[in-house]
Amino acid sequence: MSNVRVRFAPSPTGFFHIGSARTALFNWLYARHTGGTFVLRIEDTDKERNTDEALKVLLDGMKWMGMDWDEGPDVGGPYGPYFQSQRQPIYDEYLKKLEDAGRTYEKDGAIWFKLEGERYTAYDDYLKAEIEKVKAEPVIIDDAVRGRVERAEEKDFVLVRKDGSPVFHFVNVVDDIAMGITHVIRGEDHLSNTSKHVELFKAFGVEPPKFAHIPLILKEEGSGKMSKRDKGALIEEYESRGFLAAAVRNYISLLGWNPKDEREKMDIGEIIELFDFPGINKGNSRFDEKKLSALNAEYLRELNIESFSFLARPLLNEAGVVNEEVDEDYLQAVLTLCQPKARSLDTLSELCGYFFLEDYSMDEKTGGKIAKKTDPKELLSEVLPILQSIEKFDAESLKTALETHAEDNNQKVFAYFPALRYATSGQGGGPDLLPMLAVMGRERVINRIQRFIG
Ligand code: GLU
Repeated sequence: MSNVRVRFAPSPTGFFHIGSARTALFNWLYARHTGGTFVLRIEDTDKERNTDEALKVLLDGMKWMGMDWDEGPDVGGPYGPYFQSQRQPIYDEYLKKLEDAGRTYEKDGAIWFKLEGERYTAYDDYLKAEIEKVKAEPVIIDDAVRGRVERAEEKDFVLVRKDGSPVFHFVNVVDDIAMGITHVIRGEDHLSNTSKHVELFKAFGVEPPKFAHIPLILKEEGSGKMSKRDKGALIEEYESRGFLAAAVRNYISLLGWNPKDEREKMDIGEIIELFDFPGINKGNSRFDEKKLSALNAEYLRELNIESFSFLARPLLNEAGVVNEEVDEDYLQAVLTLCQPKARSLDTLSELCGYFFLEDYSMDEKTGGKIAKKTDPKELLSEVLPILQSIEKFDAESLKTALETHAEDNNQKVFAYFPALRYATSGQGGGPDLLPMLAVMGRERVINRIQRFIG
């Protein structure tokens, strides 16, 4: 085990946003890559928003994506508690250290952090008043993603509010120290806070961790950051939309990172092996639903039929295509035909609905095309007795019987195919016809043809 200790430090809001999921994933990947420790710390200082349900959404989302934590809620660990709301004694102790070092003062009921440096007054355009500023030494952040960032704080800042609650900067740094965090991997929106954080580390006499600020995820169109209202923004929705966790995880790993080659579909072992800071992009990444769907389709095709059916059944059920009475063998036989064409599970009902429902829609364009060339009813009346009488209703026997019939009538066997497909599925395309008829079974096929002939 290495001494790397990283943390994901979410403030539960009731949503598991793709940006947070990406931060969690990068931390998790880095811990697994280095053989370090992944800590989950809940920054739940906002009592109104940080409810149990909000926490559950987050933990469920992480578990669904396959991220496990070595220390944190449920599992505990030597640096607990892992909820900021339960760490007040630790904050009191650390505040005392700053007080003892003469780095705090009280003003307007709040406790302030005193920056080191020369003090002077300046006119503040925003406040329209003279204010005290500090000429502090600039803080240099050697960011693993951004490179060298230099920034000087100019104003003292609050550590503990009037109501006694400690502010984010203070508890965040205290916990990183108390939990022995070695690397802080977080969203770029926190880069502007980092100089404050480094000042605090210095005041505590502690070497700051290595920072890695990861760039934003932009929405699919436009220049804005992806917000929770954008499609695809919430992890908790992917599962119900029938996305595979492994595909979503693979996709999110590529939002702002790549293995510096063309590879996109990678199993989690490969991603862990390749993941490192030099692979994190400086530029923003953009959410791309098409790329996610394409990856998801690749993962779907790889599933064995039992797993595919296990995931597909609830969605087909919800779409009203199957119910509990649909036989698992029949479902699996159908899905074996449809799986190669599936892009996501939530569009599967459009692909294979006619295998289960008798009121499947008839594609008029296809119907028109077929009727132009042949009389489908006549063709089907011709082959109906064959379908009724062949001994075994499997693809092989159907092929032999239909070929023989075609030859006897100086026809090509394919002449019968469009009408057969159209009558039994309402479609112009789909899985290979004869295996499709075989799966549907004699009774269903004959009924459908008879109904079509009228
Ligand atoms: N609670 C902060 C957030 O959710 C954590 C920031 C950090 O990782 O330091 O943004």
